[in-house]
Order: sequence, then structure tokens, then C-alpha cells
Amino acid sequence: MDNRRSFLKKFVGIGGLVVAPAVSRVAEAAQNAAIKNIRLSQSNNRTRLVFDLDRSIEHSLFRLNNPERVVLDIKNTRLLDSGLVEEMQNSLLKGVRTGVRNGNDLRIVFDLNDNVTPRSFVLRPEAGAGHRLVLDLEDKNSIPFAKTVKEKPKLRDVIIAIDAGHGGRDPGASGHLGTREKDITLQIARKLHRIIKKYPGMKPVLIRNGDYYMALRDRVKKARDNKADLLISLHADSYRDTRARGSSVYALSVDGASSETARWLAEKENASDLIGGVKLDNKDDMVAEVLLDLSLTGTIQSSLDVGDEILGELKRIGRVHKKRVQQAGFAVLKSPDVPSILLETAFISNPKEERKLRSPAHQRKTAKAILRGVSDYFSRKAPPGTWLSLNNKEHKIVGGESIASISKQYNITSTDLKMVNRLTGDHLRIGQKLKIPYTTTA
Ligand SMILES: [Zn+2]
Repeated sequence: MDNRRSFLKKFVGIGGLVVAPAVSRVAEAAQNAAIKNIRLSQSNNRTRLVFDLDRSIEHSLFRLNNPERVVLDIKNTRLLDSGLVEEMQNSLLKGVRTGVRNGNDLRIVFDLNDNVTPRSFVLRPEAGAGHRLVLDLEDKNSIPFAKTVKEKPKLRDVIIAIDAGHGGRDPGASGHLGTREKDITLQIARKLHRIIKKYPGMKPVLIRNGDYYMALRDRVKKARDNKADLLISLHADSYRDTRARGSSVYALSVDGASSETARWLAEKENASDLIGGVKLDNKDDMVAEVLLDLSLTGTIQSSLDVGDEILGELKRIGRVHKKRVQQAGFAVLKSPDVPSILLETAFISNPKEERKLRSPAHQRKTAKAILRGVSDYFSRKAPPGTWLSLNNKEHKIVGGESIASISKQYNITSTDLKMVNRLTGDHLRIGQKLKIPYTTTA
């Protein structure tokens, strides 16, 4: 016992000066981390600083304005070589200062030329690399992502002009139950307006939104004033023979009506301008001139194309009167630069169809079929510079994904995602491909 004690005494006594610093170094090492190296890199508008550490650390980060600074506090850490930060600067970074806080903590102040968004994260050791602290300084005024966001509003919605046929003193055709075409067309128009409004990338414009008379040329003018990409004129057919049934779609013809019926209808629908006491003046001469313009041929081609899509969707919910898109000289279609179609939704003169036309549920069904046709058309031929022209992103479902998780991933609403993909429930299957819409609210 005595021997040992004296041995210890002797040891401490002799080695005191030597041993003590060694012990303190061990104690310090147990508490303090050391920054061994700092690496600076720059890409686009991000300055990245990687701190190589000998162990894990606790840190905090904050920003100060006027002048712009970012402050990094690291607990129980020291900088092995102050020379590491002395010359550190770039276009964003004016300089770096360091100081000690609370005796053991390291404070690093980054003086900046610009307002930044600082972000930090730590990396655990992995093959070839030890503990690291990463500090990213993103230049707020020129972050590539922010730039894209800023550019987004330049993209526009596809504008759909919805024209409820007739109105006011021009009631249009009427059915046996006294149903008036002007009321039916407005009801369907408003339903179509409501669902298009919810469709990402499309904006509806109601050409007539009430029971008032509107000249055909004013309808075309309103569509053009609103820079419409498509004009849909809604009507309900009538015929002497009450058995006539089904929907028809018309586009403007270059050389007059493509069928006798179409010619007859064109006269009937165009007659509303005369009913309203307004003549089309020399409109036909003007149109005849424009018809020579190739751009109109293109417009007619687009009208036939979108008409085809809508007709295809209408076939799915009921009968069609004519299997192909008809062409006629309707005045409401005579817009040289706006693809326009006229839709005879059903025969108001047919008692069965009259009842359908009056039913809100069937009106909604019709509106949805029109929207499907329109969206199918624009998913192929969206005008440049519109949201829909970018709408080509696809997402393939893998295990564990849900409507909610995908919506979150792309920063869109579940409603938009379901609408674009025509999903009625929340069920997804692996391998299923979803269209990812762009939001207009971004
Ligand atoms: Zn009509």
C-alpha cells in the first residue's frame, strides 16, 4: 500500500509538469472538435463551403442584414489554422472572420455582397470522407430555381370561349315541353365554365352570361378580345321530324356547307342576327377574302381536329347525329384566327332528348364530355407559351406512393392531379402512368 502510494506521489510529483498538459489535451480533445480544412466551391449562384471535421458537431446558423452577413456558430470547436479563412472570398463572399464564444465555441462570420438564403447540413463519415459540415449560400437575386419560378407567369392559360347560343329576344328553338334553346345553352355553358375553371392550364370565358340578346359578330369579337384559343358555341338542334336525335359538331367550311342539312342549319342559326335586327353587313364579303388566307385553312383544320375529339367523347355518353364533324358557314364560326366549333348538343325537337337537355345531370355529363375532348386536343396541340404546352410530364407509380404523396412531390393539389388523370378514386396501381399538371397558382 505504502509503496504504491509513494509511487503515485512520486509519479505525480515528478511528472506533474509533463503529465498535466497531456491530461488537459486529452480532456480538450474529448470535448472539442477541430476544423481540419475548409473547401470553397461555386456553382451558378451557390457558394458551398465544406468544413472537414474530426468528429460530429452541433451548430446553428443565422442571417443578419445591413450589412449582409451569415453567422455560423459551432459548439466546442476550434479552427486548427486561422489561415484557412484568411483569403477566402469570391463574388458573393467578401470575407470571413472567426471568433471564440463562451470560451469553447467557434463563431464564423461570413461577410456578403448580397442577400442570400443560407442552408446547412452535416454529413456523416463515409468511404474516404470524415465528418463534414456543409454550408450553402444561395444568391437570392439569381438562384436558377427562383428564376424559373419568376419566368412561370410568362406562361399562360389556354383560353376557352364558351358561347351559349341565342339569348334574350332570340329564344332559339323550343321543345314540346316549352324548353327554350337559349336557356339550355346557358345552363350547359355555365356548367362547362365551372369545370374548365378547375382544370389546370385552362381559362374559360363566358361569351353570354345571362338572358340577353347578343349579335353573332359581337360574340366573335368578345372571343377574339379575350384572345381565345378556342370558341365553343353551344346549341340545341331542332328538326321537322321529331325522331331526329343525337349531337352534331360543326366547323366552318371553306366553300360553304358540306351537307344540305348543314346549309339549312347555318341559315337557321345565322338568322338570329336578323331576328335581333342586326344585319351582318358586308361581313360575308370580308370573310370570303379571309377565306383565301392560309391561316384560316389552318384554323379550320384545328377546328375539325378539336371537333373530332369532342364528337368522340359525346359518342361515349350518347348518340351522335352525324359521325363526322360537319362543315357549314355559321357566322359564329367565322373567326379567321380562332378555331371555332358549333355544337348541337341534342335535338330539342325530340321529346326524349328534350327531357335529357333539361336534366342538370345530363347537362353536367355533356359539359364533362366537351372538356375531355378539349383537353385531349390541347394535350396534343397546345399553343406555344401555354401551360398546357409544357404538360408532358409523366409519373410512373412505384410501391408506397399515393395521390397525396405525388401531389406533394410536384407541389400540386390532389384535385388537379385527379382531374387531369380522370381519377375518380384514390386507388393507384404500380406501373400506372400519371400526367403531372402544371399549376397556375405557382
Ligand atoms: Zn341554336
